[in-house]
Amino acid sequence: MEKMYCYKCDKDVIGELREEKTNHNIHGQNVVIDERIFTCSICGAEYDFDDYDTFVHKINIAYLTKYENLE
Ligand SMILES: [Zn+2]
Repeated sequence: MEKMYCYKCDKDVIGELREEKTNHNIHGQNVVIDERIFTCSICGAEYDFDDYDTFVHKINIAYLTKYENLE
């Protein structure tokens, strides 16, 4: 269980955190990353748990890994 601010409930709530594979198209390459999704236990709203820097970092790593494997 993790704690996060929920916009719908307008307060910090406890919720479930799960990983979900999401596709992104970077420079014509399809890359898959594990995004962390937070679900509010009160209203069921879902949020991306990763901040923007983490998100971009994950995409970069996935892209570079795939790019290196293609060479
Ligand atoms: Zn909520």
